[in-house]
Amino acid sequence: MTRIAFLPLSVLLLAACTPAEPPAETQDDAIDLIVPGEYVVTMDEKLTVIEDGAVAVDQGVIIDVGAASDIESRYTARVTLPRDKRVVMPGLVNGHQHAAMTLLRGLADDLALMDWLNNYMFPAEVEFVDAEFVRIGTEVSCWEMVRGGTTTFVDMYYYPDTIAEVIERCGMRALISATVIDQRSPDAEGATDSISNGEGYIDRWQNRHPRITPIFGPHANYTLDAEQLRKTREAAQKHGVAISIHVSESAFETQYAKDKYGKTSIEMLDDIGFFDGPTIAAHVVWPTAAEIPILRDRKVGVIHNPSSNMKLASGVSPVAEMLDAGVRVGLGTDGAASNNDLDMWEEMRLAAFLQKVSRMDPEALPATAVLKMATIGGATAIGLGDQIGSLEVGKRADLIQVAFDDVHHVPTFDVISHLVYVTDEQDVAAVVVDGQLLMRDGEFLTLDTDRIAAEANALAARIQSALAQRNAGTPAGAEEK
Ligand SMILES: [Zn+2]
Repeated sequence: MTRIAFLPLSVLLLAACTPAEPPAETQDDAIDLIVPGEYVVTMDEKLTVIEDGAVAVDQGVIIDVGAASDIESRYTARVTLPRDKRVVMPGLVNGHQHAAMTLLRGLADDLALMDWLNNYMFPAEVEFVDAEFVRIGTEVSCWEMVRGGTTTFVDMYYYPDTIAEVIERCGMRALISATVIDQRSPDAEGATDSISNGEGYIDRWQNRHPRITPIFGPHANYTLDAEQLRKTREAAQKHGVAISIHVSESAFETQYAKDKYGKTSIEMLDDIGFFDGPTIAAHVVWPTAAEIPILRDRKVGVIHNPSSNMKLASGVSPVAEMLDAGVRVGLGTDGAASNNDLDMWEEMRLAAFLQKVSRMDPEALPATAVLKMATIGGATAIGLGDQIGSLEVGKRADLIQVAFDDVHHVPTFDVISHLVYVTDEQDVAAVVVDGQLLMRDGEFLTLDTDRIAAEANALAARIQSALAQRNAGTPAGAEEK
């Protein structure tokens, strides 16, 4: 069996590390948390995997990483999680989301991007999305992300203050965009309005909460003109915040930019100085050979969304070429209406498989490269690589425990192979963000599952009845949804 080929990789496992002496003040006092595991997958520079390891956490920070016996002899913790059949790793980073769109999933499927957006999503949003919708939809999203081991995400949706309030309560870490779009949207009348609303939101949330980073989210270069994109960047620069945007997502966008500006999307954005500040570019399915070095040189963080790109038939992003060229590439789910779930394990698998099959090269994107995209690579792409994404002393304590006690994890020849090619969201046993446990043994500690489900169902029933009323007034067969 080819499984045997994984065996030599076990030599990479370090039986024991020799961590530095702990700070004196922690020796007497109990620390907050010890997270042990049969494997600790650190995702540090050397991709160190510690067998029978543990991570010590205090006051939201990783204070030690090493052999479980060393950690447990050095520290007493108020909470110590179980070790048997557990794998500890950094929390997953979902670099592109529209969290509240959980409430629109299943409303319109099996369509191309522009049809789906213009004829279904944008009209449904104007009709149904308000602050209450965003609160409930974001809570559903948080539940699903925490369930699957995502600890940080980048959001782009409406009513960003409401999103930030939900994230503050649920305990996740997020970059939350103020959406800028030049059309009537749920919270603005057009580009000028959405930029000034966005500035107000950023004033209210900048430096307010350590887990919440407000940013701007200009939608795309086909929903904003060059001047509006430039003004959004100016506003972002004025406030010292990053930008998240859809870039080169579809062949339509590339053609649109060529027709309107005589340049492809990334060249056009570079030309107007759009990359003068930190940029998170979602999708990047159609970069030209000349554009890839621009992404690298301008330190643009690219977020690959394989499920969404496949479902909307947007295309296959040249992820392997971008990584080879030194572009920062992370992974995302996109919103739940174009995926239709928020499972980063599935994204990892699809990212790997899509590169392999489209290039007819099984080595195109190996498991380790994909795991990097979902952790430290993604963290770097969104500008948080110095704070999260790997299990290293001094970093914020965003980590998860994956249970390997399901039979589909037996036998485990190579832990990285299992994390990427076998694990699913139901295997996640514990989730810690900033040192706080959000889920333990499958139990949610900051989210009320029953209330969230009841509120989501009640809101969905209102949408359903509004759609039924509207459809009742249209000729039969004229409208499907
Ligand atoms: Zn998107």
